[in-house]
Amino acid sequence: MDLPFEPYRIKVVERIQRVSRAERARRLEAAGYNVFKIPSDAIYVDLLTDSGTSAMSDQQWAAMMTGDEAYAFSRSFADFERSIRDIFSYRHVIPTHQGRAAESLLFAAAVAPGQVVPNNIHFDTTRANVEHRGGIALDCVCDEGLDPENEGPFKGDMSLDKLAEAFEKYGKERIPLVMLTITNNSGGGQPVSMANARAVSEFCRDMGVPLIFDACRFAENAWFIQQREEGFADTTVKEISREMFSLGDGCTMSAKKDALVNIGGFLCLNDDDLALEVTNDLILHEGFPTYGGMAGRDLAAVAQGLKEVMDEEYLAYRIGQVRRLGERLESLGVPCLKPIGGHAVYINASRVLPHIPQSEFPAQVFTAAIYLEGGVRGVEIGSLMFEHADPDTGEMVYPAMELVRLAIPRRVYTHTQLDYVADVCARVAELGPRLSGLEITWQPPSLRHFTAKLQPVGGGDLLAPESAQ
Ligand SMILES: *Cc1c(COP(=O)(O)O)cnc(C)c1O
Repeated sequence: MDLPFEPYRIKVVERIQRVSRAERARRLEAAGYNVFKIPSDAIYVDLLTDSGTSAMSDQQWAAMMTGDEAYAFSRSFADFERSIRDIFSYRHVIPTHQGRAAESLLFAAAVAPGQVVPNNIHFDTTRANVEHRGGIALDCVCDEGLDPENEGPFKGDMSLDKLAEAFEKYGKERIPLVMLTITNNSGGGQPVSMANARAVSEFCRDMGVPLIFDACRFAENAWFIQQREEGFADTTVKEISREMFSLGDGCTMSAKKDALVNIGGFLCLNDDDLALEVTNDLILHEGFPTYGGMAGRDLAAVAQGLKEVMDEEYLAYRIGQVRRLGERLESLGVPCLKPIGGHAVYINASRVLPHIPQSEFPAQVFTAAIYLEGGVRGVEIGSLMFEHADPDTGEMVYPAMELVRLAIPRRVYTHTQLDYVADVCARVAELGPRLSGLEITWQPPSLRHFTAKLQPVGGGDLLAPESAQ
């Protein structure tokens, strides 16, 4: 594939260091084989997340210098609100310090214990926030979205059948809202089609239940619609985004993704009563309604970032860079979830490490091994993140896929660095049978993947010596 052309030149650089293999081995063990706990100065290429890791533009830095730090109704809030309204068209714009704060505020006001929130696939913080309110987070993605080999163009689509079943099973009184995550992060960064969003929207309107978008990567989703969905080739990404949001009643947004900033978020709502309740809670937990948890300069950077993310040359480069990494991995024999998603490549760890059962966290093993091998940090999206006991039977339920996500920060790494990442992953895939499973030695009560400690099963080494094969 051709190198995706960067529509940028570099103005500021940040030195990164490589630490020795022996040092990496020591760090990994000290971190309990959990790469979340490795200090970032011991990481060479950091693909843990695309969240809050974007490089801001000169225009965003300039906007930050002119940020208005007035407590109430600052000029920066006016810019923030205008920039959001230009795309999102919802009545109430409520700033929050990041996406999960928007989720927490929304579910605190809208979800009662025992209620059910359907989504294509809940992101981890979204699921945790629903469950924190005593709600049930229900995933209703289409079947293709659960098949890593399926090459469908819109694997983030919601299954209308599963959604209808949920309404039949629980009744609409128990379903306060429906969510749709664009793109579907936990399902591989796969897009949702406009046709599907329309169908879900019509269904929700028939039921009289609001549809709320989890909008973190809306621009990347819109770019996929333009490229892949019939009838949108000549529609701009901005027009597509506007049409998408017109189908819903609000959204949660982590500005750390497609608003190209390091911190920030917002909640948009059309419902006046709900917005009022949320705003009261906002004042208690986040801040005055015109800054949420953000500084004026952060609002200013979001306002500018939302303009830049609509740049289609940027989106072509961005999504092209991610696709190129995926294609290189595949060509080196590392199986990836297909098609390659918008913000990340997802390695299919079950296929790389078929000898490791789900109860021994194959995707976490691969994640630890690429750090050991090359100082590359990715993140497990598999049983460490999602394994849970069935609330009715108490039996362990495992996720459908064991994935390692390599999320690409926006405008940060070069093609050379990502080629290096692909080579490291290929070397680890070759080591496959020599890698040991992991077991948990300590875990917290929720969101355990962030802090859990693990060790190689039986307390041995992650990588068996060559002679042991
Ligand atoms: C990142 C993310 C969130 C949470 O946003 P934070 O800013 O990290 O709190 C919610 N949903 C999706 C799909 C995300 O990717």
